[in-house]
Amino acid sequence: MTRRPGFPARLGPAPAARRPAPAAVPARGAAPAGVGLDSQAVRSRMVQKLAAQGVSDPRVLAAMNAVERHRFVDSALVNQAYEDTSLPIGLGQTISKPNVVARMIELLLGAPCAAGGRLGRVLEVGTGCGYQAAVLSHVAAEVYSIERLRGLHERARENLRPFRLANVHLLFGDGMAGFARGAPYAGIIAAAGGEAVPAQWTDQLAEGGRIVAPMVMANGRQALVIVDKTAGRLSQATLEGVHFVPLKSGIA
Ligand code: SAH
Repeated sequence: MTRRPGFPARLGPAPAARRPAPAAVPARGAAPAGVGLDSQAVRSRMVQKLAAQGVSDPRVLAAMNAVERHRFVDSALVNQAYEDTSLPIGLGQTISKPNVVARMIELLLGAPCAAGGRLGRVLEVGTGCGYQAAVLSHVAAEVYSIERLRGLHERARENLRPFRLANVHLLFGDGMAGFARGAPYAGIIAAAGGEAVPAQWTDQLAEGGRIVAPMVMANGRQALVIVDKTAGRLSQATLEGVHFVPLKSGIA
């Protein structure tokens, strides 16, 4: 039986948490060790920091508070899971800093069609370890998340399984083509930076929807870009500089 989570979703403990962890090395999924606090306390502190850094949307802060980021990183990195840093997730890819995840989701919720409530369907390009997909599942009705590296797609599936998020759909494929079967999307969020916003993304965007993506600018640096679709017209704005892994075509 699949239970649909309420809001905020109650995330059950991962099976790993029920196994006794070896004394010295924290098991994958164990609470951060050596900090003298349980993971909820460490996470609350992370959320306070996010708020101090300017994240103000209560929907975003609640989602960041609910998702156990330490369950998505390697056991050797568990102690750093709640620091404001990006971390390696294998195959040369990284999980974004909490601050960047929160900022981008806050921007996504600024879509005209969200209007202070929940987003409808969202497409995430670049599942990586699945962390951002889990955060998105708290603020959107349905999350379609696509990854081009099979190894990471499978890892995300494994990472997300214990959370039982019935509204997260993991896809293996090239997200540059979007995912037409889930369209139209209220929001499209990319975790990898390309040279331009693919036409498929704007085609698959709903009326009142918003794209939030890192893009390479003329100076060769990346910046966050938002694209809104209002009355069938697209408007684009460029925001602060960011550092994301490159958006690549094809699958591997
Ligand atoms: N949101 C992720 C961050 C992953 S890093 C997380 O929470 O962990 C960005 C990911 O984008 C990488 O895993 C990379 O393989 C993937 N990626 C790059 N180009 C892509 C494409 N065209 N389609 C799908 N995924 C892509």
